Amino acid sequence: MQLLDGKYVSNKLKQEIAAEAAELAMQLGRKPHLVAILVGHDGGSETYVASKMKNCEAVGFRSTLIRFENTVTETELLHQIEKLNLDREVDGLIVQLPLPKHIDPEKVTEAIDYRKDVDGFHPINLGRMQRNLPCFIPATPYGITLMLKEYGIETAGKHCVVVGRSQIVGLPMSILMARNTQPGNCTVTLCHSKTENIAKYTQKADILIVAIGKKNFITADMVKDGAVVVDVGMNRETSTETKSGFKLYGDVDFEPVAPKSSWITPVPGGVGLMTIVGLLKNTLAAARKEVYV
Ligand code: NAP
Repeated sequence: MQLLDGKYVSNKLKQEIAAEAAELAMQLGRKPHLVAILVGHDGGSETYVASKMKNCEAVGFRSTLIRFENTVTETELLHQIEKLNLDREVDGLIVQLPLPKHIDPEKVTEAIDYRKDVDGFHPINLGRMQRNLPCFIPATPYGITLMLKEYGIETAGKHCVVVGRSQIVGLPMSILMARNTQPGNCTVTLCHSKTENIAKYTQKADILIVAIGKKNFITADMVKDGAVVVDVGMNRETSTETKSGFKLYGDVDFEPVAPKSSWITPVPGGVGLMTIVGLLKNTLAAARKEVYV
């Protein structure tokens, strides 16, 4: 078993991004700029946004966090997005999900200018991704492909099973692995909560990517010997063992699954760190007008 080490790969790629950002800042006369909007005070969201902002600063980007209380109206939020869409000094714009129930996340996602949509959730970006056209790829699936590439994992001709079909992780991941690209060219099976006998599929996976949000769901008997296992799950539980008061668990039961796999991501220290890299690379591309002019 070998580790798909998110810490190592993300540090390496962040150094490259920092060098490219410095060069771009000289050309533009300003730093690449990411704006994040955070509504409310959800503990997980606070942590993820803080980490995104910190990582932006670490690679020499400018980052701005705009906060709203849970009581913000949909109209107010859409108005703020429109202002940022028009702001020429803003390259990337993200709205941290989930949003309060009275705000329609689809409306918000579609309100963001697709040329600034560095989360890659806008239907134009998702459609272009499916067609293998230049676009912003959703940060988590993007980060996973960067990691597979970095470790030279052969994907062509392999059977990839993706568990979970969310719009931000599982579904785009399945498309990327099926596309005629490297990584890609897999035969893909996409499983979800209505799939009967999931183990029947996961046991046949050469590459198993799990994004469901259920602690230790994938057990050793569900994994083929020698499989590449990518665990997207981030299940936060309160803990007295850690300084933060929380402990993260993946969707894969790491201890028993690791010895069966050829490669595996740890949680933490795997996909989460690569998601940040995906976001940073998209933001850099947006500032460079590399995807859209
Ligand atoms: P989500 O929107 O809640 O979607 C979960 C998906 O899993 C759905 O497609 C659901 O099926 C499926 N599912 C749920 N229970 C299942 C079961 N028992 N068997 C099979 N499929 C099941 O979740 P998400 O946003 O994709 O996130 C998934 C996990 O990844 C969470 O732990 C989240 O925190 C984590 N995450 C991590 C990162 C990172 O950077 N590491 C980024 C994003 C998310 P249906 O469609 O049928 O309901």
